[in-house]
Parts: sequence; structure tokens; C-alpha cells
Amino acid sequence: MTDYRRLRVALLGAGAVGSQVAALLRQHADELADRAGARLELVGIAVRDVDAKRDVELPSELFTTDADSLIVGSDIVIELMGGIEPARTYLLHAINSGADVVTANKALLATHGPEIFDAADQVGAEVYYEAAAAGAIPIIRPLRDSLAGDRVQRIMGIVNGTTNYILDRMDTEGAEFSQVLADAQRLGYAEADPTADVEGYDAAQKAAILASLAFHTTVPLEAVHREGISSIDSSMMDAARHAGYVIKLLAVCERLTEESGESISVRVYPALIDRAHPLASVHGANNAVFVQAEAAGNLMFYGAGAGGVQTASAVLGDVVSAARRHIAGGVGVGESTLANLPIVPVGRVTTSYQITLEVDDQPGVLATVAGILSEGRVSIATVEQTVVESGDGTGGVARLVIGTHKALEQDLSETVDRLAASGVVERVVSVLRVEGN
Ligand code: NAP
Repeated sequence: MTDYRRLRVALLGAGAVGSQVAALLRQHADELADRAGARLELVGIAVRDVDAKRDVELPSELFTTDADSLIVGSDIVIELMGGIEPARTYLLHAINSGADVVTANKALLATHGPEIFDAADQVGAEVYYEAAAAGAIPIIRPLRDSLAGDRVQRIMGIVNGTTNYILDRMDTEGAEFSQVLADAQRLGYAEADPTADVEGYDAAQKAAILASLAFHTTVPLEAVHREGISSIDSSMMDAARHAGYVIKLLAVCERLTEESGESISVRVYPALIDRAHPLASVHGANNAVFVQAEAAGNLMFYGAGAGGVQTASAVLGDVVSAARRHIAGGVGVGESTLANLPIVPVGRVTTSYQITLEVDDQPGVLATVAGILSEGRVSIATVEQTVVESGDGTGGVARLVIGTHKALEQDLSETVDRLAASGVVERVVSVLRVEGN
């Protein structure tokens, strides 16, 4: 056996991901040593409760509640506790103690990323975070390294498994949101408090991380426009299907070229996507990230966005990279803010839309609606009318599903307000963006 140098590895957290990382580090110790060029010695695991039952069997002597002592003297610190504090304080402590750090903590990076990256820069440490966006899917390194010579134009990601599971079942079974959410909670796909997932907060954190890397720009979480999926119902699913679309919760990170120069938009919302688009075939709780780059063209990264052992794979990849850097030097993933492009509000974004209205079923109504859209600089691509309630020419209600050409979001939303107040529109049923066209 090669006599490798030993690197001390401290693990903070032994939950769904941490326990699997600990098990794999021990199980594949020899192979990992060959790949890393150093023996990765797990010196301890900090947890809240040393006696708690773990998903995998681990030697009890590794466990401690004293994270601070464990950090001191470690070469690599893996943070898998989650949350902001004390994770932030421990990571900063690790960096300032001379360790390289590996984390899967999207919440922390999306809110305190610049502070952590700055601290690492100050002391020449590196921060690795492949598991922080889209779990097992390699996307951080492709954006940072493989595409370093290209210009990313747009990223469209399905980066939250819970919402994809819910929307996929609504689409394939015609089920209602609340019914599928209850099932998802029972099966462990959704938390008891599903807000972070269904309202798009989790996806927004990942969007901030991906956009920062792709566009070399600091993207604060507050700059990410966010809408969730709780207002999606089966009638919207039906209308989408009828028009050849499927509804997905998308994280869209886009480079915009305006007269004033380049800027970026980062947004999370449920959107329609053509059924022929590769993202439309992402089913169940899977994740996928579709990247459009100037030279490379379209790339798609697909796989498990969560799961203890799946996420542990991405964490261990980072640990091996950190170990190699210890042995041979070089840089880690870090962040780059070279471009620092302005981030524009969603009103400045251009997409096409599907607008569903309930209108009075009377002659001339369609012309009125078309007139309001045209005045608002929203051009109609398709219109479909169905009678909802027959009034034999008076008093009835018709449903109009209008597909638009690309329009500015600000124009579109002002136009929808005018339609709602026009007197001929009974109800604006839904307004959904169409992405990927
Ligand atoms: P988890 O199952 O809740 O485990 C958290 C672990 O951290 C537990 O072992 C807990 O100790 C320990 N811990 C929490 N607070 C602590 C404190 N104050 N001091 C010491 N230890 C503390 O979390 P997880 O699902 O493994 O997630 C870990 C990280 O990976 C999170 O940032 C998460 O966002 C990210 N991630 C998770 C997944 C996934 O599929 N689960 C996917 C991608 C990314 P006790 O066990 O003693 O309570």
C-alpha cells in the first residue's frame, strides 16, 4: 500500500448526507487515497446528540458535540449541518484555522456567500460546494471549470425535486395540488412545512448560486424574483397540456443584452415549457439543469437533486479535490465576481405568455380583448375560445386561452390589469410565462 500523507478530515453533521459521507469515507478509504494522493482520515464528527441513532453504523468514539475543538488542526472541514448558524460561524472558524472547507449548505451560501468567500480569499483557503445546487448533479464545476472559456447565455433549471414531483403527478394524473402535496408529505418527498419548496425559496437559493457562478456576478438572494407553485391547479395543467406544454417550476438565470449594456435576470416561477423540450421529460423528484452557452450550445445535466447517499457523492468529489489541492496546490471552486453585471427586475424580462381569461360570451368581446393587448404592445400568436356557460348569445361565459409572442413583462402585467378592468373580462384565470422557446 502506498504510504500517503495523511489529511485530517472533520465532519460537522451526521444526518441524511453526513452519515453517508462518513460511511463512504471509511468504506472506500484506500481507493479515495489513491485518487486524492492523500489518506483522508476522518478524525471526528460533530453533532448535537452523540447518542442519536444514525442511518449507518459509525464508531461511537468519532462523535463529539465540540465542533470548535474538532475544527482546530483539521486540513479539510465538511459542513453538513445545514441552516445559517452555527454553520456560518463554524465555517469561518475552519477557514481561519487554515482548513479548506466543503459544504452543501445552499441556504448559507445564498445568504452569506460573499462573507465566506472573502474570508477564504484572505487566508488562501478554498470553499467547495458542488452539492449545494442540484444535489448529486455535477453543475458547479462544469459552470466554473468546463465552461470557463465560454459565455453562458441562459440556465434553466428544475432544481427542486419536491415541486417537480408534485407538478409531474398533477400533469400525469390530473390530480389537484393539495392532494399530491399530502401524498408527497406522506412519502417523505415534502417536509411537514413545505413552504421552502412549494413557494420557491429553495429553488431561489440555488438560482442565486448558479447565476453567481455563470455570470461572474454577486447575486444576492433578494435579487432573485420568486413565485411558487401553490396557485397551480388542474385547469391550468389541462390548458397547458392542450397547448402542447407542461408546467415546471423553473430557475431561470439569463444574460440580457439591452441598449445600456449587459445585465442579468434571475427568477424562479412556474412556467410553461414545450413538451418536446428536454426539461419536459424530467419526471418525479429528479432535477435537471439546461445550460445554453455561446459556443458549446445546449447542455443538459440530469439526475438526483437530493437524497443522502446521492448528495454524498458530490460532497466526496469535493473532498477529493480539496485533498489534491493540499498535496499539489491549485485553486478550488470559489466564486468569481469579475463581471459584476447589474441584476434587472423581472419587469425588464421578455418572454411569451399564455393568458387564460373568462369573458362575457358576446359579439365584439374578442375584438375588445385584442385591442387592449395590441395597445399594450402584446402581440397575439394564438387564441382559443371555448364556451364555459352557455347564455345563447347573452349572459354566457367563454374561456379565452391566448398565446402571445414575446413581450416585456412590465407591458404584459399592465395589459393584464387593463383587461381585468375592461368590463368584458369576468376573471383573469391565469397568466403563465412560456420558457425555452
Ligand atoms: P440533517 O439530516 O438535518 O442533518 C443535520 C446534521 O447536523 C445532524 O447530524 C445534526 O446533529 C447536525 N447538527 C445540526 N445542528 C447542529 C449543531 N448546532 N451542532 C452540531 N451539529 C448539528 O441534514 P441533511 O439533510 O443531511 O442536510 C445537510 C446539508 O446538506 C444541508 O445544508 C442541506 O441543505 C444539504 N443538502 C441536503 C440534501 C439532502 O438530500 N438531504 C441534498 C442537497 C443538499 P444531530 O443528528 O445530533 O441532531
